[in-house]
Parts: sequence; C-alpha cells; structure tokens
Amino acid sequence: MTKYKLEYIWLDGYTPVPNLRGKTQIKEFDAFPTLEQLPLWGFDGSSTKQAEGHSSDCVLKPVAVYPDPVRTNGVLVMCEVMMPDGVTPHSSNMRATILDDDGAWFGFEQEYFFYKDGRPLGFPAQGYPAPQGEYYTGVGYKNVGDVARTIVEEHLDQCLAAGINHEGINAEVAKGQWEFQIFGKGSKKAADEIWLARYLLLRLTEKYGIDIEFHCKPLGDTDWNGSGMHCNFSTKYMREVGGKDYFEALMGAFEKNLEDHIAVYGPDNHLRLTGKHETAPWNKFSYGVADRGASIRVPHSFVNNGYKGYLEDRRPNSQGDPYQIASQVLKTISEVPTGAEGSVSAAA
Ligand code: ADP
Ligand code: MN
Ligand code: MN
Ligand code: MN
Repeated sequence: MTKYKLEYIWLDGYTPVPNLRGKTQIKEFDAFPTLEQLPLWGFDGSSTKQAEGHSSDCVLKPVAVYPDPVRTNGVLVMCEVMMPDGVTPHSSNMRATILDDDGAWFGFEQEYFFYKDGRPLGFPAQGYPAPQGEYYTGVGYKNVGDVARTIVEEHLDQCLAAGINHEGINAEVAKGQWEFQIFGKGSKKAADEIWLARYLLLRLTEKYGIDIEFHCKPLGDTDWNGSGMHCNFSTKYMREVGGKDYFEALMGAFEKNLEDHIAVYGPDNHLRLTGKHETAPWNKFSYGVADRGASIRVPHSFVNNGYKGYLEDRRPNSQGDPYQIASQVLKTISEVPTGAEGSVSAAA
C-alpha cells in the first residue's frame, strides 16, 4: 500500500468569476487510484460563498483524476460541488449544466498576463515598454524578459506530465502576455483540463512571486491587447455532415442567443470586444471566413470541406469559466435541428 496525497480541487461560489480552491487528504491505495476509488469529501461552504454558517457543509464529488506532476505520490482530483445529499449539484456547479456529448470537441486558447508589483511582467515602474509589435511569438530578452519563458516551459512540462492534452504555447501581442491551448474530446474534457492547467500555473508561479492576471483588459482603454480564451468547437454532426444550410441555421441561433453567450463569456468583455485589436464589438454578432475581426471565425478548411469541421468563437475572454462557455455553446447547438427536417430549404 502507498500513501497518496489527494488534492481535491473545486470552484468556489464567488461571482462573476469563481476561484480555484484545493485541499489535501492522504489515503492509502494499492496503485494509483481510479476515479471510482476516490471518496466523496466535504468542505466548509461558508468560507467559499457556497453556504451559510449554520449549515455549512458542501460535498466534493471527484469527476476527473490526473497524476500530480510535482508531488511525490500526488493526485489531482477535479471535483464538482454537490449539496449535502451528495447527488444534487450545488447552484455554483456549472459543470453539471453541460450536456453530455462524447462527440463534442473543444479547444480553448487561454491568454493571460504575468503580473509583478501590480503591472505586467517586464513593464517599467513608470510608463510603458516599447509598443506592441515584436512581442507576439517573439524571442530575446527585450521581448520576453528573463523569467517568463522558464515559467511557461515548466508549466507546459507539468501539464504534459499530468496527462493534460496541452496543444501548444506562444508569447502574445502584449509584453508579459502568453497563451496556451488545450484540446479535448467529450463535452467536459477540455474545460476540466483548462481549470487544472490554470491551477498548475497559479501554483507554479507562487515560488516566483509572480501572479497571473486573467482579467480580459488589465491595461484598460490603451493600445495594449486584452486577453481572450477563444473557444474552438465542433460536434460529430458538424464534422461529418455539416453543410451550408446547417451552418447558416447554426449562426442564426448564435445570433439569436447573443445575450446568453456574452453573459457567460467572462466579465468586463465590453472593455475587450470593442471592434479594435482583432475583436468584434460585443453587442453585434458576426461571422466570417478567416476573419479575426468577427465574433465567429470560420476556418478556410471548414468552407473547403463543404461547411464541415470546427468553428472558432473568438468572444470568450481569459477570465471566462470554460464550463459555462461549453455549456452555452452546446445549448445553442442543441436548438438547431439536424438532418433533413432541419435543413433550411435547399431550393431557396
Ligand atoms: P489560432 O491562434 O490561429 O486561433 P490555435 O492553434 O491557437 O489557433 O488554436 C486552435 C485550436 O483549435 C486548438 O486548440 C485546436 O485544438 C482546436 N481545434 C482544432 N480542431 C478542432 C476541432 N475539430 N474541434 C474543436 N477544436 C478544434
Ligand atoms: Mn491561438
Ligand atoms: Mn492568441
Ligand atoms: Mn484563436
């Protein structure tokens, strides 16, 4: 038997953006534990805005398990928060609202800033560094400084060692700004892994005395880019059947549900989705082939393959909850009929 350090990780009840929380319990197992072997656990919901003091117990239900790349015999246990009965999802539990769909694939592009002393890493104490231009995918001390890449590489290695389906990294347009991408098959997989990757990044940067700023427009109304979390998505139907009529019906549903999408695409998004800096205005839905100034970018490959494949919703921001984003995207998709009965008149 081996004693494992189980880090139970969950999202608290803060709004509009939940915080990651985690605590450790030690348990003995013959081998690395499976999800089924991991017990329910509890926490004091009155300290996380999830319960009142007089009835404070909330339940943690393990939903995904990964090896902890840092701790000896460590286990990362992603959890949903449940009511004391252990079966009813807590009102803060947005993962439970995602439609189950093994054929849904999501790829999220998480942008973020490193922050130190209240400003982006690499910014001088007064004023600004050289304007944007050479930082994006840049190399060299003047572009990326002396520590950011070390952290980014360490984070990448940790994600890969944990088995997170990390797909890549790049330095972003603003100084101190970076991106990583995570892709997952299944409606909840990529969202689980974004939250775990955020957890690993926040935990890693503790030792560097550096914070992660997830806000979508930390430098306000300036010529410095904001941060997004583009949501690339596809369903089995989109990949295998698709078609122009279905695509147009889908875009119609996205347009109709604009408010519902913006409501869960991260706070303060009107500061970022201004129509400048490769964004579309937040209150006007648009789509376009290879258009990085549209709400939804339609890849060339999508059109070339007969309107089949994946689409990129560019509106979700860096602070968005991938559970709520995936949930809303699938809800809107589910409103659009598939098959013959759903296609808009082909003769039209
Ligand atoms: P860009 O910066 O040009 O928008 P990235 O390479 O950063 O592109 O991100 C593209 C994302 O699209 C990746 O996360 C990738 O996993 C995802 N993706 C690719 N194919 C699919 C698909 N069929 N369904 C959903 N997501 C996809
Ligand atoms: Mn990208
Ligand atoms: Mn980017
Ligand atoms: Mn993108």
